[in-house]
Amino acid sequence: MKGFRIHSWGSQLQWEEIEETQPGPGEVAVDVEACGVGLTVLNCIRGDLGNAPELLPRVPGHEIVGRVTEVGEGDDAGLIGRRVVAYFYLSCGHCPECTAGDEPLCRNLAGLVGVNTDGGYAPRVVLPARNVITVPDTLDPVAATVVPDAVATPVHVSRSRAKIGPGDRVVVIGAGGGVGAHMVQVAAWDGAEVVGLDLSEPKLARIAELGVRGVRSDDFSALDSAGLFDGGPPTVVVDLVGTTASLSWSLDGLGARGRMIVLTTFRDRTVEMDPRRLVFGEVSVVGSRYASKRQVAEGADLVASGAIRPVIGEVVGPGQLLDLHARLEAGTLVGRGALDWTKHA
Ligand SMILES: [Zn+2]
Repeated sequence: MKGFRIHSWGSQLQWEEIEETQPGPGEVAVDVEACGVGLTVLNCIRGDLGNAPELLPRVPGHEIVGRVTEVGEGDDAGLIGRRVVAYFYLSCGHCPECTAGDEPLCRNLAGLVGVNTDGGYAPRVVLPARNVITVPDTLDPVAATVVPDAVATPVHVSRSRAKIGPGDRVVVIGAGGGVGAHMVQVAAWDGAEVVGLDLSEPKLARIAELGVRGVRSDDFSALDSAGLFDGGPPTVVVDLVGTTASLSWSLDGLGARGRMIVLTTFRDRTVEMDPRRLVFGEVSVVGSRYASKRQVAEGADLVASGAIRPVIGEVVGPGQLLDLHARLEAGTLVGRGALDWTKHA
């Protein structure tokens, strides 16, 4: 088969012949129908998520949707033919955190799909059986590329970390990106009033189509958080951008019992925090890391039922993938991108 591989962290992907491997015990082979294209894949290719030379060459791409074609010896043959999405983290499945359904906090994390094991930038992939999650067969494979990360991550934010519900006033910073365009929808579905912040008019227009009010956030110093909602300042700010300005604005703008949700992991970025403010307003600063396997399945149900609409700005075949990467890098892609193997194989 032909697919894309990283030969040197940070350099251009190579389109080349890749030898197929057979699934061993505890593994399954998946015919990839589509793979999501977002900023995390670019981070992976750059080596930001792992850059050991022995991991190369590597097929990137973690937002995998496909059908199981083979299972390893002793594995569940009932998986064959089922449509699945990949779980991003190579969690162990048996530590206390995994047993409790908190797989992103796994004590024995073996890395990430697309970094420590091959991903979906090739038309067939072998994955740990533990890392495939069955989804409704009616779910369109391109639509389903948003499930394993772009929808599952907001489900984790809303239901486990921010505990968003009716009466909440939620601001999402970076609302027109892959995670943001689904974060605004999950927060609204869970009952909140939502405002999405972003920089470009096409992104704000797309958010408006989803029924969410969009506001430009070019200058945080001029943006009054208390004026965004009739009912008062935000109770939750989800920061998907993570600049010093956005982080400071998030913390300063929250109302009483407000929760600031942090999802970015840039190094050397700090924000000043006045402990008096946390105490007097009972304000919380909360980190949120990916999603549990159960929440990926919840995300699939939300998309399959139509509660959440996949926001996929562009669907391409392998011939146009590198151009799509460039648009993603330039910040002009609305929502997620997708690599469709079925139409272009
Ligand atoms: Zn574990």
